[in-house]
Amino acid sequence: MGAGDRFRHWLGPGRGLEDSTREDMLERLRSGGVRDERVLEAMARVPREEFVTEGSETEAYADRALAIGYGQTISQPLMVAVLVQALAPTAGERVLDIGTGSGYQAAVIAACGAHVISVERLERLAVSARRRLERLGFDVEVVEADGSLGLPEQGPYDAIAVAASAPRVPEQLVAQLAEGGRLCIPVAAADCDRLIRVRRYGDQAMRDDLGPCRFVPLLGAGGFPEAS
Ligand code: SAH
Repeated sequence: MGAGDRFRHWLGPGRGLEDSTREDMLERLRSGGVRDERVLEAMARVPREEFVTEGSETEAYADRALAIGYGQTISQPLMVAVLVQALAPTAGERVLDIGTGSGYQAAVIAACGAHVISVERLERLAVSARRRLERLGFDVEVVEADGSLGLPEQGPYDAIAVAASAPRVPEQLVAQLAEGGRLCIPVAAADCDRLIRVRRYGDQAMRDDLGPCRFVPLLGAGGFPEAS
């Protein structure tokens, strides 16, 4: 069975998408430095066209962020891949995903075999993502709340993914990491955001900078103030 046949199953007939489109995305992820086969496999399995706004399905596999309404965006595929690769979620792990949006990133993490708890502050997005993820059969629980300080009552987590940029790394999130846990969070800097990873070993928190990125702001108690 050729790669084209493999993807035909996911795209279905008459969608107006070329079979090669998802392969193109995977090719770009590879050349963009994504090496983790589990992440590539997960991104090959999640039908991104189901997560974009009606009318932009044909752009679903382009390497850019797309509007999903309410001033929010579904992140660029390469950004999702880099973030998920840095978190390295494995089967059976518990992962907290902050900023559900369309639910795409949560689906990719779930496709790596993890159980995902995803938090979204906007009710309309939380409701539609919950329906979509259920319909597509991903192991994601969507919670409508301010997730900027995590969800301590359901912790600790093996990994925490944040899809909106914060003024700094909230200590409360680091505190919700299990031993060996990983947190990835964009932190606002002068010209653009930096993707920061924190890994927790015992009392130690090791921090590294994974490079520049651009995200919508994280609003709320651990983020930027919400407009009144
Ligand atoms: N991961 C998403 C990208 C969403 S964009 C996807 O794959 O589609 C970031 C999202 O974070 C937006 O939906 C925004 O409403 C949400 N957000 C911002 N601040 C938040 C907070 N404090 N708690 C939960 N969600 C938040």
